[in-house]
Amino acid sequence: TPQILFALFLTLLTATAFLVMFRNLRAQQRLMEAKNDFISNVTHELKTPVATVSVALEALRDFHAIDNPTLTQAYLDIAQHELSRLAQMTDKILETSVFETNGVDYRPESIDLDTTTQQIIASMKMVFETRGATIHYSKDGNNFVLRGGTIHITNVIYNLIDNALKYSPKCPVITVSLKNAVNSVSLSVKDEGLGIAAEYQKKIFEKFFRVPTGDVHNTKGYGLGLNYVASVIRSHGGRIDVQSEPGKGSCFIITLPRQGTRALTS
Ligand code: ADP
Repeated sequence: TPQILFALFLTLLTATAFLVMFRNLRAQQRLMEAKNDFISNVTHELKTPVATVSVALEALRDFHAIDNPTLTQAYLDIAQHELSRLAQMTDKILETSVFETNGVDYRPESIDLDTTTQQIIASMKMVFETRGATIHYSKDGNNFVLRGGTIHITNVIYNLIDNALKYSPKCPVITVSLKNAVNSVSLSVKDEGLGIAAEYQKKIFEKFFRVPTGDVHNTKGYGLGLNYVASVIRSHGGRIDVQSEPGKGSCFIITLPRQGTRALTS
């Protein structure tokens, strides 16, 4: 009868509404959990360098280390190292919060990806040396100029190389290559490190996501870098792809359109 059908319909509708509500709540709860993890991570990581610097300064004052040039040098080195770590962390956090409120906003400028990449590699020389890393750089073609936000694009390349270093065991081998096509320029950063299982290859671009690999993966991070990278690339009308195999390594490829060409989509 129509009454029974109507009652059935109502029940079904209510059930669906509940299901949707429940799924939304779960998603919100997961994001809250991730944010809480992030905050406790950040708080902990910010506290460590601050505490170390204050211990070093106290030692300089209380133990009259200032009379001993070798000790003074050692404590100042510690303070300087910790402060630069702190500066890097705050930069990363600021970078992320800025793009969260405003989207990735940039004033298009002319960027030569070749020069920019070479400058980034040169600026990371010390880091490579400390990690015993080898970096290969190659380019295929000779016009790598496009328009975009220089700072954001620089951050993207830096983030990808930094990840390649972070997620490689001892003596990382990293290959950075540039390729030009008629309508686009692409840059790939390849490592021979841990690799990423297929099930996580999409998730790594989500905010706060880190591959759960326990101790093997004992590196610090907030799971924000690739989300930022993807936002920058998207806002430039480009695309990002990842090819990876656990235990073999990963290759991240960004492709950016040249001026006046249509946006590329993933
Ligand atoms: P973070 O490095 O701060 O954790 P990212 O957003 O840069 O954040 O990366 C998210 C996750 O993706 C990392 O935690 C790591 O698990 C994985 N990942 C990123 N780059 C690589 C890489 N080159 N090799 C293996 N895993 C990677």
